Amino acid sequence: MYIELTDHLRCPADHAEQYLVLLPDRIVDRSVIRGRLGCPVCGRTYPVTDGIAELGDSTVRPGAASSLDPAALHVLLGLSGPGGYAVLVGSTAAGWERLARENPGVSLVAVNPPDIVADAGPLLSVLRAPLIPLKARSVRGVVLGPEFAADPEWVREAARVTLPGLRVVGQGRAPELDSLDLLATAEDCWVASKR
Ligand SMILES: [Zn+2]
Repeated sequence: MYIELTDHLRCPADHAEQYLVLLPDRIVDRSVIRGRLGCPVCGRTYPVTDGIAELGDSTVRPGAASSLDPAALHVLLGLSGPGGYAVLVGSTAAGWERLARENPGVSLVAVNPPDIVADAGPLLSVLRAPLIPLKARSVRGVVLGPEFAADPEWVREAARVTLPGLRVVGQGRAPELDSLDLLATAEDCWVASKR
C-alpha cells in the first residue's frame, strides 16, 4: 500500500467517516509492506500484510477476470493528466498494469481484486474491505467489475468516493442513483458522472 494513500483511508466501521492512523512496521520505496491501521473513533485496528491492507471481508467475491479491455477502460475513465487516485473494484483490477501505463502519475487502488493481483508499491495499492474504505470525494474515478456493479451498495460507494464531475464506470445494467448522471451506455457497460 502506497504510504500517501493513508491520508485518504477511512475506517469501514459503521460510524461517521474517520481517518485511520498508520503504525508501520516495514516500509519499502514509500510502500507499506507490514503494519497496522488504527481508528481513533472505534479503536479497531486493521493489519497490513504483504503490502495489502486488510480492512474486512466483502460479501461480494471478485470474479476471475473483467470483460472490459484495459484500453477501453482508459477511454471510459477519461483521466487527463497525472496526479491523484483511481479505484478498480473486483475483477476489473486484473488489467491494472495497462491502465497504469496509459495514466502515468495516477496512483491506482485495487479494492477486493482477484487473488492474482499483488501489491505493487506506489503504482498500485491493494485493499480488502466490506466497502470502499476511502473518504468521500477523494478519487478521480472508480471502475466496478461486473460482480460489484450488480450490487447497489457498491455503486453507492463508488459514487461517494468520486470527486464531483468525474467518472464512475461499471459493467452490467446501468444504475439509477441521484448522485450519478449517466453519460453513456454501451453493450454491458455504463459511464456516469458524479454530481
Ligand atoms: Zn472506526
